[in-house]
Amino acid sequence: MENSEKKEATVVLCKCTKQHAFGIRVEKRNNDWFRTWAFKLDEKRIKREGYDKVSIKGSMANDPEYPGCPYCGGRGFFQCDCGRINCFKENEDKEKWEVVCNWCGKRLSVVRANSFEMRGGGV
Ligand SMILES: [Zn+2]
Ligand SMILES: [Zn+2]
Repeated sequence: MENSEKKEATVVLCKCTKQHAFGIRVEKRNNDWFRTWAFKLDEKRIKREGYDKVSIKGSMANDPEYPGCPYCGGRGFFQCDCGRINCFKENEDKEKWEVVCNWCGKRLSVVRANSFEMRGGGV
């Protein structure tokens, strides 16, 4: 599995609940971001590694190997108006969900989407 091309990859922050943040490793292939891995993070490590400063733009899809959220196993996400992303477990066959952002507490409704623009910020 050797690949001489340098891959562009980074880690974006996501929250499953208010207290439970995790990192999603994303890799750029052509112009799309693919989620390849997810791992638990604590606040100290987030600050140390600067994960809260990362911002990426574009569409994001799951790599077939993506294991899902390390807390609940959810493979989806939603983005709030505050620019952060939240873990999202699709468990019903709906087009729209009522959710609460784990970062700022805002209530919002989510529609199916895979494109977003994310900004970094405090935890
Ligand atoms: Zn989760
Ligand atoms: Zn928010």
